[in-house]
Amino acid sequence: MRVIITPNHQEHQSPYEIWNGEQTPHQEIPARVENIIAALKNTHHELVELEQKVPMRILRAIHSSRYLSFLSDFCPTLSDGEYKYPSVFALHAQTEDRYKYPLTRLGFYSFDMYTPLSNATFRVALDSASAAYQAAFEVKNRAQKVAFALCRPPGHHAEPNQMGGYCYLNNAAVAAQFFSQFGKVATLDVDFHHGNGTQHIFYEREDVLTVSLHADPDWKFPHFSGYADEKGAGDGDGFNLNIPLQQGTTNSQYQRSLVKALTRIKEFGAEYLVVSFGADTHADDPIGGFALTTKYFTKMAKTIAELELPTVIVMEGGYNTSKLGDNVVSFLSGF
Ligand SMILES: [Zn+2]
Repeated sequence: MRVIITPNHQEHQSPYEIWNGEQTPHQEIPARVENIIAALKNTHHELVELEQKVPMRILRAIHSSRYLSFLSDFCPTLSDGEYKYPSVFALHAQTEDRYKYPLTRLGFYSFDMYTPLSNATFRVALDSASAAYQAAFEVKNRAQKVAFALCRPPGHHAEPNQMGGYCYLNNAAVAAQFFSQFGKVATLDVDFHHGNGTQHIFYEREDVLTVSLHADPDWKFPHFSGYADEKGAGDGDGFNLNIPLQQGTTNSQYQRSLVKALTRIKEFGAEYLVVSFGADTHADDPIGGFALTTKYFTKMAKTIAELELPTVIVMEGGYNTSKLGDNVVSFLSGF
């Protein structure tokens, strides 16, 4: 399988996150991807450096223009090594063009204190999004069935106009938006956390089905999205499926829910598939809470591959850095 990698990802390295009012070590670190690359070098997978750039028209179809302008204007104003965190968030939805002061805009376009900006962040996030784009482009144009975008930073929490959950641009949505020009697309999010951004980007669309299996949000991040009664709206009514799962979910419990998710994708008649893969469902993940095993990731992937759809796999979370390589290799081998 071709694996698209982005050599500049190390330039984005958030120094800490703010949890319960305190600075705690940031979980989304460059070693995650370096560990995956090291593990992939011992396999038959082909590591390919990023060559393409995600077109602005694709980004503007999934993110608001003002949010994109904010990221491109704000990041270069920061000095080397400086990271800016929001302190106050928008209390009520207001018109985006109302706010001019940089820190007001930062609060408006953020939803947590885990996702700071540096002068490299937008550039690195653009490359991460471009990796997803290149993977989709190759699957469409090179007659290969599947490609893996080794994205960092991850993307599935990035909303149409907000960063959060370590995510700035929605990489999975980039791939889905690209595929949607050619047919019906399903996104399948098997990260431990709910893919709130992907859900909301396509919430009112019937041409992109969004499906997510994740920790019950009443228990885990992102808390305010991911409930079973969120089913889409307008034209997209009925085209979002959330399957919240409980603490300690085992391989066999997960497998049953996965089969349910895939049944919906088949019934929808998807012609393309985008998989948001996070290894934070593993039993030893420091911020997870399920009981999945490394070996199960192969079975999970095999079950997904039975759809026989042109597929892009996008890397999302997974924070047990020492096990991440093995977990990704196990998942990819199922394809
Ligand atoms: Zn996650």
